Amino acid sequence: MSTFDETYDFVVVGSGGGSMCSALVMRENGKSVLIVEKTALVGGTTARSGGVMWIPDNRFMKRDGVPDSQDQANTYLDAVVGDHNDTPGASRARRQTYVAEATRMVDFLVDQGIRLNRVSYWPDYRDEAPGGSEKGRTVVAELFDVNELGDKKAMLRPNFIPMMSTLDEMLKLRFIKKSWESRRIAVRFALRTVVAKLTGKHFVTAGAALQGRMFQAALKAGVEFRTNAAVKELVEEDGRVTGVVAMVDGQPRRFGANLGVLVNAGGFAHNQKMRDLYIPNTSTKWTNTAEGDTGEMILEMMRHGAAIAQMDEMVGNQMSIPPGMEDAAVKPVVQGVTAAPHAILVDQSGLRYMNESGSYMTYCQGMLARHKTVPAVPSWAIMDSQYMKNYGFISPLPSAKKPQEWYDKGFLRKADTLEELAALLNMDPATLRGTVDRFNGFVAKDCDEDFHRGERAYDRWLGDKFHPKNASLGSIAEGPFYAAQVVPGDVGTYGGVVTDEKARVLRDDGSVIDGLYATGISTASVFGRAYAGAGASVGPSFVWGYVAASNAVGVA
Ligand SMILES: Cc1cc2nc3c(=O)[nH]c(=O)nc-3n(C[C@H](O)[C@H](O)[C@H](O)COP(=O)(O)OP(=O)(O)OC[C@H]3O[C@@H](n4cnc5c(N)ncnc54)[C@H](O)[C@@H]3O)c2cc1C
Repeated sequence: MSTFDETYDFVVVGSGGGSMCSALVMRENGKSVLIVEKTALVGGTTARSGGVMWIPDNRFMKRDGVPDSQDQANTYLDAVVGDHNDTPGASRARRQTYVAEATRMVDFLVDQGIRLNRVSYWPDYRDEAPGGSEKGRTVVAELFDVNELGDKKAMLRPNFIPMMSTLDEMLKLRFIKKSWESRRIAVRFALRTVVAKLTGKHFVTAGAALQGRMFQAALKAGVEFRTNAAVKELVEEDGRVTGVVAMVDGQPRRFGANLGVLVNAGGFAHNQKMRDLYIPNTSTKWTNTAEGDTGEMILEMMRHGAAIAQMDEMVGNQMSIPPGMEDAAVKPVVQGVTAAPHAILVDQSGLRYMNESGSYMTYCQGMLARHKTVPAVPSWAIMDSQYMKNYGFISPLPSAKKPQEWYDKGFLRKADTLEELAALLNMDPATLRGTVDRFNGFVAKDCDEDFHRGERAYDRWLGDKFHPKNASLGSIAEGPFYAAQVVPGDVGTYGGVVTDEKARVLRDDGSVIDGLYATGISTASVFGRAYAGAGASVGPSFVWGYVAASNAVGVA
């Protein structure tokens, strides 16, 4: 028998999405829990993120009369995920368990005092598919006054949005030039900022609000945390995982786990070696994940016999990285750029090759797939002057003056005619001209015959709802014309160890590794190679954390 320096009922590796959720389940059942976190900060990429969770048929939809049901959600997942031999983590049984447990998990969090709400309008990413929801199934935390964490405040990983504004508000602020609702939101946001300053509050939003609230609840419930403690090994005895070895103050420390170990240690976005092996043509320089996302726990679980799947998938996030921002922790995502009117994306030969309004994951899948036959990493966003007048590019403010350095260093290219622009991009001018003429023809007909852009509610939501005729289609006709490089960045990898309906880690032969549970992006996603809607990463991390703990403690 192993000896341990400390023993708990449950040990969780990593402090991301599902970790504190699982820990609250344990504490609710009177069990002791330790969360072991490698970095100095609590919250993982989840705290940095939008923090939204994709939760079908949730209580807030019911409250607001938004139609949904578990059957409808299962129909949707059957359509967009489907059954494939190479995505065992996305089996029908797992998908159905997800749908059933997601609402329970949210109800549990609300009972624990975590204040959540829905985002009022964020269409599913394939809302046109059977069972798709136009209004969306996205749940988010309410703003959180981080000062409530007292002396633990500095331990919470900060978010990428510095403003005291909800995501719902942020999504509407982009129309400030066109809508009174947006202007009212701007005023409300300004007032909130002033009142917060006067009253000594510091509201955080999105993922930091979610993880801040979770951290607060976990501390109150008596969950123990160890930061700066990287787990190096899983301890296995007689075929059962019974604990972990972590480096604490430079020394190995052994933590025993009576009921099991939950690995929620993120993916491998910061591990170039694993990327080269599994997701070639992508780079650690193009990820917005937190620095701890280095993949070693996936490798450690593999060492203990865990099966892996979907390792070639990531949650792509198209990026344009201007000079000076190459090393920024969060690099500019240009999700809405080529989805807006007056812009398209072309490969290096000057051809369009996809619906530029698809979800960020589909978009980057499209770039990588195209690159197998035509150079498309990077691709080029082509925009005209109508675009620049109406919409933001990197800076959210339309018409914002672009730094001269962007032109000098070739990040942003500008020319009076499309032919001159093509020459700057080393493209055949006739090809780019042909692409734009064909696209403009589709705009005139209000029908993108090649890729059906602008037909889904999601496409239109990403575009400009105030644009006449079609929110996503507008001609590229007024010079000067602009081009910027777009790379397939990411917000995380999407493959990992295969788990079952109880979140237990499986071997290749389908047998269970006793005592070992996993959740989050350390696992092969329950959505396979698809991204169901906003929150399809954080949602599963929470749900499977909840499921793992409920099973380990025997209350599932
Ligand atoms: C800017 C941005 C916005 C996003 N918005 C959303 C969104 O709104 N909704 C959504 O669903 N997804 C979003 N994503 C993606 C999503 O945030 C991540 O996929 C998700 O948070 C991953 O959660 P997790 O629980 O699996 O891991 P994480 O939250 O990353 O937690 C893993 C933790 O494990 C720690 N760890 C790693 N190795 C070890 C070890 N050996 N020992 C101990 N600890 C270890 C890490 O340091 C980390 O703290 C966004 C991502 C970014 C970057």
